[in-house]
Amino acid sequence: MTEETLDPMDWKRVQALAHRVVDDSVAFLRDVRERPAWREMPPEVRAQIAAPLPRLPAPLEDVYAEVAETIMAYPMGNVHPRFWSWFMGASNFTGALGDFLAAVQGSNLGGGDHAAALMDRQVVDWLKEMLGFPASASGTLVSGGSMANLIGLLVARNVKAGVDIRELGVGAMPQPLRFYGSDQIHGCHRKAIEALGLGNRALSRIPTDPKYRIDIVALRAAIAEDRAAGFRPACVIANAGTVNTGAVDDLAALADLAAKEDLWLHVDGCIGALVAIAPDNSWQVAGLARANSVALDPHKWLHAPFEVGCVLVRDAAAHRGAFATAQEYLESKPRGLASGTWLHEYGLQTTRGFRALKLWMSLKEHGVEKFGRLIDQNIAQAHELSRLIQVEPELELVSPATLNIVCFRYRSEKSDPQLAKAINVEIMLRLQEQGTAVLSDTTLRGAHCLRAAIANHRTRREDLELLVREVVRLGREIGCEKQFRAKSAFAERCE
Ligand SMILES: *Cc1c(COP(=O)(O)O)cnc(C)c1O
Repeated sequence: MTEETLDPMDWKRVQALAHRVVDDSVAFLRDVRERPAWREMPPEVRAQIAAPLPRLPAPLEDVYAEVAETIMAYPMGNVHPRFWSWFMGASNFTGALGDFLAAVQGSNLGGGDHAAALMDRQVVDWLKEMLGFPASASGTLVSGGSMANLIGLLVARNVKAGVDIRELGVGAMPQPLRFYGSDQIHGCHRKAIEALGLGNRALSRIPTDPKYRIDIVALRAAIAEDRAAGFRPACVIANAGTVNTGAVDDLAALADLAAKEDLWLHVDGCIGALVAIAPDNSWQVAGLARANSVALDPHKWLHAPFEVGCVLVRDAAAHRGAFATAQEYLESKPRGLASGTWLHEYGLQTTRGFRALKLWMSLKEHGVEKFGRLIDQNIAQAHELSRLIQVEPELELVSPATLNIVCFRYRSEKSDPQLAKAINVEIMLRLQEQGTAVLSDTTLRGAHCLRAAIANHRTRREDLELLVREVVRLGREIGCEKQFRAKSAFAERCE
């Protein structure tokens, strides 16, 4: 009987194929600008992906050919220079090599004394330094910003619970906890508060000022009211960059308030924490380093391939104290592989992938200063886009850039917001279907608008000029089509 293995019978053949994969990958990124920003998947491709479970082998060359035709040909598009939807990084080739090498080495970073585990801790140390956190702080790499926020809020809950919550649970808390964030906080906080067993009502949404920053007077009043009603105010979640507009709360004022009111200050810095490394704009996140915990997202503005997020916690003992457990099968030993730090003691995962390598390699290659300049470049581009919109009479700037997010719309029919929304959504969908650019949309205080979030190291000024030209062209075209024209105030333009 011969024993089986997954290793190839013929390494030379696999090597040749692997060389082709690398050549194709280089071409994929080198020529990205020549391709449409997005393409609809034809039905044949959808059907091919919905294949039955393969029971028998196929040559690897055929498997790769299928991937090239179906998967690689229809990407999301965030590596494209004119992708500005939601908030995403644009990836980079060095990072992709890092992910490949991490997979080849195959190490599990749940723990152990090995080079990959050391590098994971080193990258966290670098991120602390980038944000101005003390070396004594703790931190861990996680899947993304949502998990980073969950971990920060979990440590906050445990520290403020007033009981041994790990042993007794939320039911034993002497007073129900209250968390605070602005009405602009990201949806992951609601999920986190619910997962922490506190319930959505434990998260108070505080109104924002005209620039979408938390209203500190209203926050102070809410805290006083909650105390009087028998709740325990526990934590303020500050935004360093909101999803809708990129607004940055007054972090220094919130740090003062948190100190005075004995609250945990958690900063959701998934967008803006890394602005700390950008020389022209770091002033915008002054006070960040005073937080008790910060969530940041290297797969956004450091362009690491997905997934990698990070949470930093100032009180290292509180961080480890929230997760460490004694497991008879994971005992530390004086020497050897089991003598290192157990990295699973800093989060919810046991097995952990080698996320650090892709970051380590691109930081080494370019140096952190270049990443800072790229963030400044995106912010300058967003200001330039704001300016282009302002000088274009058919466009209206709804929220100017503070960081790198611009909200605007095509002026169509003010007195009919439903029609205005329909026209702007149609503009957004056609931009995408024609492969020109990918935007998203949002609603600010009831006003629907298009939204461009420029977190893309491939974007150039000419791309923004093209966007403005195309939005205006499409707006005119759509406004003159039958279903919109009848109701449009600008119908006379269509003749
Ligand atoms: C992206 C984002 C998150 C969630 O991060 P993921 O990496 O998508 O999980 C949380 N908060 C803000 C402000 C974000 O922009």
